[in-house]
Amino acid sequence: MSKIIIMGCGAAPGVPSVAGGWGNCNPDNPKNIRRRAGTYIEANNAKILIDTSPDIRTQLLDNAIRYIDGVLYTHSHADHLHGIDDLRDLNRLSGHPLDIYATADTAAVIRQRFPYLVVEKNHINNPMFRPSMIINEIEDGKSFYIKNLKITPITLTGHPVHSTGYIFNDGEIVYIADCKGISETGLAQIKQRPQLLVLPLTTPEGQTTHMGLDKLLEYVNIIKPYKTIINHMAIECDYDAINALTPFDVMPAYDNMAVDV
Ligand SMILES: [Zn+2]
Repeated sequence: MSKIIIMGCGAAPGVPSVAGGWGNCNPDNPKNIRRRAGTYIEANNAKILIDTSPDIRTQLLDNAIRYIDGVLYTHSHADHLHGIDDLRDLNRLSGHPLDIYATADTAAVIRQRFPYLVVEKNHINNPMFRPSMIINEIEDGKSFYIKNLKITPITLTGHPVHSTGYIFNDGEIVYIADCKGISETGLAQIKQRPQLLVLPLTTPEGQTTHMGLDKLLEYVNIIKPYKTIINHMAIECDYDAINALTPFDVMPAYDNMAVDV
């Protein structure tokens, strides 16, 4: 059995946002309080994070996560990456560097923005001051394993930087973080009817770099998962309003939403 926790279901500014406040979101519904991207998956003995937003510290604290086997990065935007320094407490607890996984483009940005935390195997920085990360470069379409968990990165389209989706166990869970579309080659890697599909929304109408609700529901029809969770929502997306617009097996996420698969 697998477990997934959506620890942060907000788009880059979070909800409420500094500039836009609550937007369309009902401030009385706690499900509308959204941190930036962060997901935890436990499956086949592996414990992994997807992305490290600036909100990662409270996400780890809320869910009592003190050990992980690795971090999968979806892309290099700040709201998915810039909490990386806060992983040093995981180095502190384990006494070891942490394996992170990213495509060549995303890895290059991590090396350029955070050169001080990249280490070689068997080396660890003093975790009082800086984290220690071993970068494992991955390639879209080429599966790899963390423990017994099979992970297939796939190419997403229409985002301003290279964005990667992740298929777990040939399609048991499909996780799409931030994009306008999913490549045909990526869709072809889904080999079974997914137990769970996670798709990003941002705004109901969509934007030049993000899919809207129409496109999202098209992907649900193409992929036909048993259950879909809508993630990465901005202040335009009120929880109850989105829930009312979607079928019963497609539901918006809320922070710390946990699903057993
Ligand atoms: Zn992005």
